Amino acid sequence: MSTGSSETPETPNSAPETTLDRYECRACGYVYEPQKGDSKRQVPQGTPFEELPPGWRCPVCGAQRRQFENIGAVGEASGFAENMGYGFGVNTLTPNQKNLLIFGGLALGFLFFLSLYGLQ
Ligand SMILES: [Zn+2]
Repeated sequence: MSTGSSETPETPNSAPETTLDRYECRACGYVYEPQKGDSKRQVPQGTPFEELPPGWRCPVCGAQRRQFENIGAVGEASGFAENMGYGFGVNTLTPNQKNLLIFGGLALGFLFFLSLYGLQ
């Protein structure tokens, strides 16, 4: 019954998209997530890093695109999942968890550092 059917046809968006790689700003730790896009710069959701506008920069610190590093797709275990099986019973902390701790700590420290700078 809808008359405006000439606009965007309803496409089932459930196609198994290949998970897009995320990119992390090496300057500030900001992670560009293709699934989220960048609302500040009107980058729509689902935009791969490679297709960002040429002038796109880190929304947090303004670093250029070449400052960004490919850190893989969301939830990508990068081979650790298999290794976890071998370390069964020996190491309760998975490599991923270790990385999370290390990087989390680094990120927190760096944010703290930045906030100190920002206050001055
Ligand atoms: Zn940045």
